[in-house]
This record gives sequence, C-alpha cells and structure tokens, in this order.
Amino acid sequence: MTNIEKRIGLLGFFARGLVKADVIRTKLDLGDRSTYLGMSDLAGRCRRSVVASKVLNSRKNLEDLLSKHVASGNEEAIQEILRQMVTFSRGHAWEHILGKGFAALGVNRIPQLEVRYIHEGAPIIIHMDDCFVFPDGSVRILEYKCNEEVQDDIYPENEFQLYGQLGFIQGLWGHPCFAVKADGQYLHAGLTFPQLVDAMFGIKLPSTPEGVNLEGYVVSATLNPNKSKKAALNPFGPYVPNAAITKECLDRAKWIWKDIQDIRSGPKTLDDLWVDYKFNPLCDFCDHWEGCPKFKLQEIPELEADLTELYEKKQQYKALEADIKRLEAKAKVSFDGTMKAQSCFEEDDTISYITDGIHTLKFSVRAGRKTIDKMLLESSLTNLSVEQLQLAIEKGGLTADMVEELIESSTKQGDPFTVCYVNKPKQKITKVAQEAEKLAA
Ligand code: SF4
Repeated sequence: MTNIEKRIGLLGFFARGLVKADVIRTKLDLGDRSTYLGMSDLAGRCRRSVVASKVLNSRKNLEDLLSKHVASGNEEAIQEILRQMVTFSRGHAWEHILGKGFAALGVNRIPQLEVRYIHEGAPIIIHMDDCFVFPDGSVRILEYKCNEEVQDDIYPENEFQLYGQLGFIQGLWGHPCFAVKADGQYLHAGLTFPQLVDAMFGIKLPSTPEGVNLEGYVVSATLNPNKSKKAALNPFGPYVPNAAITKECLDRAKWIWKDIQDIRSGPKTLDDLWVDYKFNPLCDFCDHWEGCPKFKLQEIPELEADLTELYEKKQQYKALEADIKRLEAKAKVSFDGTMKAQSCFEEDDTISYITDGIHTLKFSVRAGRKTIDKMLLESSLTNLSVEQLQLAIEKGGLTADMVEELIESSTKQGDPFTVCYVNKPKQKITKVAQEAEKLAA
C-alpha cells in the first residue's frame, strides 16, 4: 500500500466515524426526521430542500458516497465530507461546553425540550436547545448558532425559529405535548409544560401561560474567538411569542407536509415544487442542488472552462493567503526576538527592521480603521437636544460644528493591527544578479 493510499484510508476512517456518529446521534435525539417536521424545516428558506431531505435519505447517501470516494482515492471529496461533519459538530460542542457551566451553577435546565403536535395531519416535533425555568416561574428559551465568527446581525430564519419555539410553548402550555430525553431515552413524555417542570424541579407553574414571563434569545457563538478578536458569544433578544409567526409556522407545516405526501404517493415529483429564484446563500451547501430547477434555467455550459479556472484560482488564492499568514507569524517571532535583544544593547531604538542580507523585514503597528456606526448616528440624530434643534431651525440646517460633533460621537475605531513589509532592496537584487553572473562566468 502506498503512503497516499494510507493517507486516504486514514481520512476515510475519520470521516466514516463522524458520519456514523452523526447518524446515531440524530437517531437517538431526533428519531427518524423523515417522519415529522422540525422547527428548522419550518424556518428554512427553501421548501424544495426541506421536502427533498424528507423524501430522500441524504445521510444514508452520504455513507455510500463516502465509501465511493475512499475507493476512488478522491481526497478533495473526503475532505469536503469531513468539513461538513466538523461544521455540524460545532453546535453540539458549544452546547456541551455551556452545559458544564450550567451544571456548575445548578440552574433548572431542560436541554433539548421536545414538543410534539399534529396540525391538520402534519406531524411536528420541535426541539429547543435549552430551556431554563427559574424559581420565580420565569422561563427562558435559548437557541444556539455556532459559526466561524460571531454574528453581528441575526439571520431572519434564526429569529423565525425562536419565535416558533416560543409560540409552541405558549400555545401548547396546558396540552400533554412536552417530553424530555436523556441519553436517547425518554425521562418524561406526554406531559403539559407545568407538569414537566413540576416533575423535574418541583416548581409549580400556572396552568395557563397568561402572565408568565416567557422570553427567548438566539445566541451566536464561535469556537474560535481569537481568530477575529470579536466576542465569543453574542445574544440577540429578548424575543417574546408572536401570534402571526406561530400561525405562519402552522401554515408552512401544512403546505410542506402536503408536498411530502404528494411526492411519496406519486402525483408530484421534486421538480413540481415551487422554487425561490432569488439569491439564497444556502444553495451552495444544499444536498439537493443537482437537478434543482433554479439552476437548470441558468445553465450556460460554455462558461465551464472559465469558471473551472476561476474556482481553482480562488482556491489557490485562499491557500496562498493561509501560507502567507503562516510565514508572517514565523517571521514575526524572529523580528520580535531581534528587536527585544537589540533594545537591551542599543540606546538608539529607531532601527526597526531586520534583514537576511537580501531581503528586509519590518512589522509596524497601524491605528485601527475608523468607521461610522449607523446605529450610533441614528441614535445621536434622534436624541438631539431642544437647544440643538432650535439652533438647526434658526440656521436652516445642522451647523458645521454640529455635524462634526455628530460624526465624532458616531465614529468607532477598530483595534490596532500589524502590517508586515518584506522587500528586496534594488541594490541587493543587483548584487545577487552580479554574484550569479560571476558564478556563471
Ligand atoms: S439548490 Fe437552493 S433552491 Fe435548489 S433546493 Fe437547494 S436550497 Fe433550494
């Protein structure tokens, strides 16, 4: 067996384990997802992809696909499956990290609270990442979203998902629809929400949700906060139940389930489903991209050569960027070490570069970029004092001083950043060329 075959075998071994673990975890926690609709199905941007994921068994296909890629030695495709699996696991990793903190605090937590309901024939089972019940009877729902970087803005589908969860808790409060599992086994099932809370924590909640302090947050999280130097967690909220969105959830469940039934029983195919032709960033990650009518209409085969080259160049560019960052970090260690040593001996600390005899290397710190914060500006404008407004009316508009003050108070400055300069001074290039010429002679 060659070393390349051994490498593919090892990558396939990792990927097979992660795909299998995902299949087992999904089965224990969520059961057979093709038999019901979850809140992420109802909040999704594309009805066709939700229906396709129910009528085609994508996970099973993924296991088969992986075996084919391992057999054909297709490393790029195996890495793609590994990327998907690691991305799926990020959210669970965060729940696990936070779960340890909640356990240490001893709070009344219901992880993966389950709510089951059938709406006009459509089976709905929703799972909430976290539900907390406090001794004063207030209830909080948390939905975690783990991304490469913490989000500054919330995606509308994440908001929709949380609104839906809050609406279901409120609407089904006194119905025997609530359940909770531990290690894949039901601890409690078929209880009303107050019965479940009483059974778990001995807290007596009112029999109807009126007057209950019920709120939710979407929490954006990253496992890599040092990368962007931004926050590790960013909560959006609080949200409270919204009757219009709860109704929209129920309507969507009815339509989507009808599509699924129509496809399963024959009159319809996936191609008959309505597709939104607007830009959807999730199309690039969709398991049902192939054959999707959205792309059939826009197919221009003549572009293949250019797009292949563009895609490859962009991949090379990404790899090049990663290499540059790695080499810069390595060079900075030498640069910082030399500067530190020099400052012990030299009184003149103005020398700020190092050289290998051919290249020069310098790192310099730049002030962070200044940007206008739209929200700060809006708030400064809406909070102008009576005196300022009177002055503006008298002068027929904001004065130059007022504008300057507004811009100043709405300007944010980013963190300082370091720039690396590596150059080959001209005389060095000439010198190297002359030496090469001498050698050649
Ligand atoms: S490729 Fe885009 S439009 Fe087509 S099914 Fe997937 S998400 Fe929907």
